[in-house]
Amino acid sequence: MACPCALGLATPTALMVGIGRGAQLGILIKGQDALEASGTIDTVVLDKTGTVTTGDMRITTITALGSMTRTEILRMAASLETGSEHAIAAAIVKAGRKDSLPLDDVTDFTALPGLGARGTIDGSSIIVGSPRLFTEQGFPATASLQAAIADHTRAGETVVLLGRGGTVEAVISVADTIKPSAGPAIRYLKDLGLTTILLTGDGEQAARRVADEVGIEKVLAGVLPAEKAAAIKTLQDAGKRVAMVGDGINDAAALATANLGLAMVHGTDIAMRSADIILVRDDLHVIGDAVSLSRQTLRTIRSNLLWAFGYNVAAIPLAAAGLLNPLIAAAAMSLSSVLVVSNSLRLRNFETRHETSTSDE
Ligand code: ADP
Ligand code: MG
Repeated sequence: MACPCALGLATPTALMVGIGRGAQLGILIKGQDALEASGTIDTVVLDKTGTVTTGDMRITTITALGSMTRTEILRMAASLETGSEHAIAAAIVKAGRKDSLPLDDVTDFTALPGLGARGTIDGSSIIVGSPRLFTEQGFPATASLQAAIADHTRAGETVVLLGRGGTVEAVISVADTIKPSAGPAIRYLKDLGLTTILLTGDGEQAARRVADEVGIEKVLAGVLPAEKAAAIKTLQDAGKRVAMVGDGINDAAALATANLGLAMVHGTDIAMRSADIILVRDDLHVIGDAVSLSRQTLRTIRSNLLWAFGYNVAAIPLAAAGLLNPLIAAAAMSLSSVLVVSNSLRLRNFETRHETSTSDE
């Protein structure tokens, strides 16, 4: 009677079944700590590009400010961006390739994380990146430049500039596509009582548009890669238990800082290594599923423990007092283990919430 098997089984069986069910649903939970963390978070911070959006960007407009033609602008930008890994760089390179533009040699290439890239082509120093980068580099903010930027930003698209020497030659808009699952997946998070925040290096306006469209409450825009982890820390200092969802190199530190890091599987290796949970399905419902499944697993563990503990507390004195027939005691003991195991197995029935039952992307 006094063998507390059920007590010993209470936690590992629930964890095993919970983590196993997660894996079936495309949620790879790296162990018990990750599961416990996801059962207790109250705030979800989402990276914009590649997480809420597909990150498959395309150029929408190119406005020349000087004497360069569209082809010259694209050729120069594509030549420089060949060395970058950013989604915007990929869009520019793809557009150049589509027009079969020859690429020029770039020397002194430097990637400026969260800002853009710089290099030398034909003896001129070339720079591509955010308006913020250009301000920092001391480019004059002329009225015509500001008007062009405002014009491009109006559509909520991401704006990058091309500079040659000391002058801004072009304004380029890049559009991204919001994942079809994003809206309903954010609603799911809200239904679970979680606060949602969009965190991005992109400008305020582009970030706002995405947040409004999918129903994310708060926006933290213009955050440099190095500042992303600090933004998470600030939330934690305010008493929040924070989950961070991201995919990029620039998200890795934030993923590691958060109470719970979730990485999209198509993301960079470093993001996946920094995360506690890897989301294999490219459908944002997995975030809510991960939280919900973890909560349910923790509840199962608690009810298992309560049951197993209560059972032993009640039965051991009876057995000690000789009031229990050893046969019945043995049967009851096995029964308690069976009950705990079957309670854990109920987690197998955990279902993903799919409002949009059609596949995503
Ligand atoms: P996100 O948080 O959305 O992933 P990043 O922090 O990577 O964004 O980048 C922030 C901004 O920096 C971009 O919106 C863009 O304006 C600029 N940027 C970064 N890298 C590049 C690049 N290679 N080419 C052009 N612009 C870039
Ligand atoms: Mg990203």
